[in-house]
Amino acid sequence: MEKSESLNRRYMLGLGSAAALGIALPAYARRKSAHPAHFPTPVPVPASPPLDPTLPFGLSGRFTQSGYCVGRGTPGAEIWVDGKSRGLTSPNGWFYVGFDRDAPTACQISLKTAKDQQSAMLAIAPTTYDIQRVDGLPQDTVTPQDPALLDRIKREAALKAEAFASRADIDAFKGGFAWPLDKFIVSGHFGNQRVLNGTPASPHMGFDMAAPTGTPIHAPQDGLVVLAEPDLFYEGGLILIDHGQGLISMYLHQSELVAQKGQSVTRGQLIGKVGSKGRATGPHLCWRLKWSDRHMDPSLMVTHA
Ligand SMILES: [Zn+2]
Repeated sequence: MEKSESLNRRYMLGLGSAAALGIALPAYARRKSAHPAHFPTPVPVPASPPLDPTLPFGLSGRFTQSGYCVGRGTPGAEIWVDGKSRGLTSPNGWFYVGFDRDAPTACQISLKTAKDQQSAMLAIAPTTYDIQRVDGLPQDTVTPQDPALLDRIKREAALKAEAFASRADIDAFKGGFAWPLDKFIVSGHFGNQRVLNGTPASPHMGFDMAAPTGTPIHAPQDGLVVLAEPDLFYEGGLILIDHGQGLISMYLHQSELVAQKGQSVTRGQLIGKVGSKGRATGPHLCWRLKWSDRHMDPSLMVTHA
C-alpha cells in the first residue's frame, strides 16, 4: 500500500477509524489496516503546478506511471504522443497527456504545426501497486452469463463509449482538481490488482473513497457532464465529466444523481451522492480518470483543498 507519492495523502485517514465513522468498509479494505488508525496532520495541498519555462511547452504535472502532464503550445497544433496522433491543442494552446498505470519509462510529446515541430522527451517514474485478495464474492457477479444481463451490459457499454468520445472545447484540466468529497477514507488505491475468488482480475483503475451513503460529491473542476445514468449494472449511479482535451473523470456507485447530462458544472458544484449501487460491496465513491485510451490516478491531479 506504500507508494512513493505522499503529496496527496492529506485526507487519507486510517482504515482503523472506519468503525468510528460508522462506515462499512468492503472486504478488501478490511483485510488489513494499511494506514495508521488516527487522523494524520493535514499538509498543505499545493496550488496548481506552475508551468516550467525550462521545459518545452512549459510542461507541468506528475511525471509518473498513472500521472499526467499539462502544457501549452501553439493553439490548434497537432499533438503526437509516442508516435500516435492525439488531436489538437485547445484554442488557447493548452493540452493534456495522461500516463498509463504501466507506462514505459519515457514519453515523447510533439506539437506539429504547418510551420514547425517541437518535441519533448519526458522521463516517467515508476509506481508500485498492491495486490489484494477478495474472496467470498457470489460467483454470478464474477462472471455474468445470463443473456438478458449480457444484453444490458452491452447496451450500457455503448452508452459509456459514446460519452468517452466527447471532446468539450474547454481547458479546465489545466487548473488541477479539488477532492470530490470533504471527508473520506481511502479504501482502494489506483492500480491495485485484485484476485477475485482466486482469479486475477484487471487492475483497479479507480481511487476508492469510503464515506457514508448520501455524502455529497462535488465536481473537482469545471467541465461538461457527458453521462448521468442512475443505475448501471457495474457502476450503479454514474456521472462522467469532460474537462477538455478528452480528459474525462468518472464517479461510480452513486445513490442519487444531482447533475444531468449536458449540464456545465463548476469546481465544487454538487453533482451527486455517495452510495453502493452497482457492483460495490459498501458505500464509497470510486473515482476514475480517463484520457483517450489511458487510465490515470485522479488523486494525483488534486492541487486544491
Ligand atoms: Zn473503485
